[in-house]
Amino acid sequence: MKKKIIPLIISTFFAMTACSSTEAAVESTSETSQTQTEAESVVAVTALSYEIDPEKPLVALTFDDGPNNTTTVQVLDILEKYQVPASFFLVGNNINAASEDVVKRAYDMGCEIDNHSKTHSYMNQMTAEEIAEEVSYVSDKVKEITGEPTKFFRPPYIAVSNEMYEAIDMPFICGAGCNDWDSKVTVQQRIDNTLKQVKDGTIILLHDAAGNSQTVEALDTIIPSLLDEGYQFVTVSEMFETKGIEISANDANLYTVVQKLS
Ligand SMILES: [Zn+2]
Repeated sequence: MKKKIIPLIISTFFAMTACSSTEAAVESTSETSQTQTEAESVVAVTALSYEIDPEKPLVALTFDDGPNNTTTVQVLDILEKYQVPASFFLVGNNINAASEDVVKRAYDMGCEIDNHSKTHSYMNQMTAEEIAEEVSYVSDKVKEITGEPTKFFRPPYIAVSNEMYEAIDMPFICGAGCNDWDSKVTVQQRIDNTLKQVKDGTIILLHDAAGNSQTVEALDTIIPSLLDEGYQFVTVSEMFETKGIEISANDANLYTVVQKLS
């Protein structure tokens, strides 16, 4: 079977539905069960066990707005339960002594650690210098924790500018979202809106902001449903590598769903 593979650039419409300006609402909510999950996050970690068959459909889970030692831990527990990886786009200001362990655990499991800026601001209103500081802060912190810099960048609110494309030396990644930053979106809506968008190559965009338990709950249905449909879960890197798609930090693309065209 001959396949031609192209990256699709997301439209403004989908970009806005995927990551709108009110997403920060979930970030300010509860910090419950901190003590309990903190202990959980420092236990020895076994790498996830999965194989990639390039002939089978692929899907990538991505999570924005962590890390924290509550919701991120619950997401990792579910990934472990189903032995599937994900990619985490971290907000630098959320990296602290407690959440560092969670980042390390995700990395040791085989998840990918990516970049969602230091302050989660509208970076399209920033100077080149401010933009560079936003991303280097996160990348440096992640390198201290895992030994590797971040690989991909997701702009806060999917707000971009030419200055950002020029100043940030990572490919920009968007994804198929379900407005899960909004607490009014029910678990069932999160499940339904995610599953109906998934096709081979989809990058799913969810949020592991502290307190976003509805997404944790939805995940426990989304993952087994897609596994039942024959999907394989991969990191963002593995998605592009397996599909044979080259993406560049030096162009103005907001990469999202990849499609195989027969
Ligand atoms: Zn965000």
